[in-house]
Amino acid sequence: MKLTILGSGTLYPKKDRKPAAFLLKTESAKFLLDCGFGTIARLVEMQIDPREISGIFISHFHTDHFADAFSLIHSRFVADLYEEKKEHRKIPFWGPRGTEERYKNWRKIFWPEPAEAYLLEFNENTGEFGFEDMIIRTFVVRHVPYFESVGIRIESAGKVLIYPGDIGSNTDLREMVEISRNADLLLIEPGSEKPTPNHFTIEQTQKLSGAANVKKTVFIHIRPNDEDRVRKFVEGSDKFEMGKRPASRQSRNPDFILIFWIPAWGGNDKSGVSQFKIIFKQTPRSALDID
Ligand SMILES: [Zn+2]
Ligand SMILES: [Zn+2]
Repeated sequence: MKLTILGSGTLYPKKDRKPAAFLLKTESAKFLLDCGFGTIARLVEMQIDPREISGIFISHFHTDHFADAFSLIHSRFVADLYEEKKEHRKIPFWGPRGTEERYKNWRKIFWPEPAEAYLLEFNENTGEFGFEDMIIRTFVVRHVPYFESVGIRIESAGKVLIYPGDIGSNTDLREMVEISRNADLLLIEPGSEKPTPNHFTIEQTQKLSGAANVKKTVFIHIRPNDEDRVRKFVEGSDKFEMGKRPASRQSRNPDFILIFWIPAWGGNDKSGVSQFKIIFKQTPRSALDID
């Protein structure tokens, strides 16, 4: 599996950090994990045809995770028209309860042409699903009380990725540890300085990835004013050995995204001595290998 981070930011985008969207490529699928506003443009910028997306996961209904999800269907519908008689390929959605109802409401507002149709499939119940070469498992996540939020575990070719979306501090950590056990990649937010019902703290991400023996942790959903807090936490801990750092945070590349990538957070080597490495990786166009 390869993961491209299209957006590692939040509701207030910056030039170099857009709302949440992640493209997971497996042998046979191109799967979107969240589709915040701006995602269609990000795909096109990265020369990925939105018609190649084979499935979409929506963690919850905040616009930084969801706003482009249905517009993407409309884009595809129009793009299919440009290529005469091209068939619309069905798109499955995985999302919280209420996703289909929201789609119907969205149609009334943004795409009112009744004769135009696109075949969609909505999987709103949590559980396990086979799709292409993936085993998808969805689970309920605590985030806000106004709608359901779900997270996802994806297994493909023996590798496992976990993405809970936005996740509140009152989440049952034991459950998350079970879900995340021995995962190869955990995409998680260190969003909150103090425990809140809506977002995880950075200490919780550390506890989770350590207890679940996660191989690689990537911090996402970084608020602009939080980059330094996250960096200080990671750098300030004497448990950590520094890895590579970017030569400069100021990049000419407009797609520059600073992510915090922590391999084996909490793992032990054979001598029993903890080994930690931190790599601040600039990824924009390059995809992250899940290995
Ligand atoms: Zn968010
Ligand atoms: Zn949210």
